[in-house]
Amino acid sequence: MFCKIAEGALPADVVFESSQVKAFRDIHPKAPIHVLVIPKVHIASVAALTAAHDGAIAAMLHAAKDVAAGEGLVGYKVLFNVGREGGQMVDHLHLHILGGWKEHKPKSLNI
Ligand SMILES: [Zn+2]
Repeated sequence: MFCKIAEGALPADVVFESSQVKAFRDIHPKAPIHVLVIPKVHIASVAALTAAHDGAIAAMLHAAKDVAAGEGLVGYKVLFNVGREGGQMVDHLHLHILGGWKEHKPKSLNI
């Protein structure tokens, strides 16, 4: 599924794209800001990483930084789920950027 998003064959709410990665909003957000970053090359999970993937992994983390800055996030989580028991639901490597709780708190709570 994420291979098809990477190729552009499936639509997604893309917020960032480079030659190596694509970032798009999670369709079932678990935080006010929830963006996924995937490598365009197919890697099943963190458990399948080899040294050949070093460039793609670095590009993912740099993209996470740029996406978070673009979303105005000051503090946020960068998360990899690994395997079904680790909560990974799609077998194409992806990291989650989660944040925006403070920034999106209702005004009445910002006392
Ligand atoms: Zn894939």
